[in-house]
Amino acid sequence: MRTYIAATTISPSGTGVAFTRDPATGDKGLFGEFLTNAQGEDVVAGVRTPMHISEMEQKFPEAFAQFVEVCKTLEDHYRDMQDMEFTVEHGKLYMLQTRNGKRTAQAALKIACDLVDEGMRTEEEAVLMIDPRNLDTLLHPQFDAKELKAATPVGKGLGASPGAACGKVVFTAEDAKAQGGAGEKVVLVRLETSPEDIEGMKAAQGILTVRGGMTSHAAVVARGMGTCCVSGCSDIAMDEENKQFTLAGKTYHEGDYISIDGSTGNIYDGIIPTVDATIAGEFGRVMDWADKYRTLKVRTNADTPADAKKARELGAEGIGLCRTEHMFFEADRIAAFREMICADTVEEREAALDKILPYQQGDFEKLYEALEGNPVTIRFLDPPLHEFVPTEEADIEALAKAQGKSVEDIKALIASLHEFNPMMGHRGCRLAVTYPEIAKMQTKAVIRAAINVKKAHPDWTLVPEIMIPLVGDIKELKYVKKFVVETADAEIAAAGADLKYEVGTMIEIPRAALTADEIATEADFFCFGTNDLTQMTFGFSRDDAGKFLDAYYDAKIFENDPFAKLDQTGVGKLMDMAIKLGKPVNPALHIGICGEHGGDPTSVEFCHKIGLDYVSCSPFRVPIARLAAAQAAISCKG
Ligand code: PEP
Ligand code: MG
Repeated sequence: MRTYIAATTISPSGTGVAFTRDPATGDKGLFGEFLTNAQGEDVVAGVRTPMHISEMEQKFPEAFAQFVEVCKTLEDHYRDMQDMEFTVEHGKLYMLQTRNGKRTAQAALKIACDLVDEGMRTEEEAVLMIDPRNLDTLLHPQFDAKELKAATPVGKGLGASPGAACGKVVFTAEDAKAQGGAGEKVVLVRLETSPEDIEGMKAAQGILTVRGGMTSHAAVVARGMGTCCVSGCSDIAMDEENKQFTLAGKTYHEGDYISIDGSTGNIYDGIIPTVDATIAGEFGRVMDWADKYRTLKVRTNADTPADAKKARELGAEGIGLCRTEHMFFEADRIAAFREMICADTVEEREAALDKILPYQQGDFEKLYEALEGNPVTIRFLDPPLHEFVPTEEADIEALAKAQGKSVEDIKALIASLHEFNPMMGHRGCRLAVTYPEIAKMQTKAVIRAAINVKKAHPDWTLVPEIMIPLVGDIKELKYVKKFVVETADAEIAAAGADLKYEVGTMIEIPRAALTADEIATEADFFCFGTNDLTQMTFGFSRDDAGKFLDAYYDAKIFENDPFAKLDQTGVGKLMDMAIKLGKPVNPALHIGICGEHGGDPTSVEFCHKIGLDYVSCSPFRVPIARLAAAQAAISCKG
């Protein structure tokens, strides 16, 4: 328990909180706050805005000198930035507490690099000091520098948690949660925050408080969450009751736009556009270390050349999953795809697919170009066909016209695609079994695109990886693979090209994991689709589980969402089993994961331990996966 000495107006006393390095930027040097004639809670609660720690030097020179000495001793001992609480009574210093200080992601990177440069930590230790999840904040957009230059701040507080936020003003945590949860970008403006505001703070893009310093509740919590925060803007005249505030002569109401800069503390009227962040400086240095120590490769899930390019910038070493169905939704192809669905004969279906082929080939060419010879895994059509049919009356009429059919016929066809449980219905490789022409068209597109790109870049190793989804039985894979290989080989022969390609499968049905020794005889690679594997192992619908998972957390049945954090005990056991069954049969088999778990740090660690070759995740999680993979490699080495 902390004991604070009550200060009086006559005794030279005070209390403070200080860090040995700046928790927002990581800059070396004493950083903190001090209040004379106060108790410790007054600093933490943000009730009074405290003075900078340097002022303590003037008020209590001896205690300050001693404090500086103590800081150095503590930092040398713990080999990390310290967060300390202290009090001064009648000029005498009392240390109340020290601990490793919480810090922003930006500060964590700077501190880790500085500790290496100061000889206090090794590179491996520095890599282990950073929480991969926090990197997320650095990958979030910053204000567009040009737009920012042109903008004039209307107020200034403390830059308590970096990043840029722009959104509609809300005044209560409940409103932040309701509007933020509905997809609205909001900035939560409060006199000060308290623990019951947490949910609203999480839902907000940024937090702006009237009171409080760098160690106030809002500042500490926002830094922990990686949310942009400006605290202690005392120029704001707040009228909480009427949900409005006045700043620089303007009254802001709920729904008005403001922009805040959590690094400078500046507040702006209206919307300032943001730009994507890049990996440079200390961030780049730590990522270089991560790449040096990790053994797991990191790929990305990308369906568009833009996603692929972004992921490459963020360090992706290949595409682990291209969900080709996303390409069919684009305006210029959906009509042909619907024609394909409505076709009565194989010939009609092929005619519609012929229209899509050039688009698909073009898409793949752009993906290969973006990946510059790194591996690209293309997953063949997976979702049930009903996802592609029109729902609007006008679109149904247009389709009927294009098909020369009646609206009733089209409606009947749409109704016939209805399934009681579509996620376990006519999807995945089952589509290729019933309509081989779809997989044949996709094969042609994959191979023709690769031949073209290879011609332009003969030095690139371009070995397209064709991935068949939702296989549960070796015979399914064999059946589909046969015509994929026939089509691919015919294309290569016709072009007189020299091209290698691979055919592999997702392991996303428990039966596929259980029979992986059989499946490995036909597969060049396995990729764990842990979204479906989790769904089918638990028997939880991945689209509906959110409705009951809260009750599971409350009842302490689950601690985490198994769709976000891999269930190592059950789903993980199936993965481990599949590797152990598959590898001895086919030692060349390469194995990855492309479910959502591929970007979750603890799941990445598990993937390292069971011997996967790569994880694949969304572009913005690539740096997180790179760091998590390095941490797993370093920790496992012991
Ligand atoms: C999976 O099931 O994990 C997967 C990556 O495929 P999708 O999410 O497209 O079903
Ligand atoms: Mg799947």
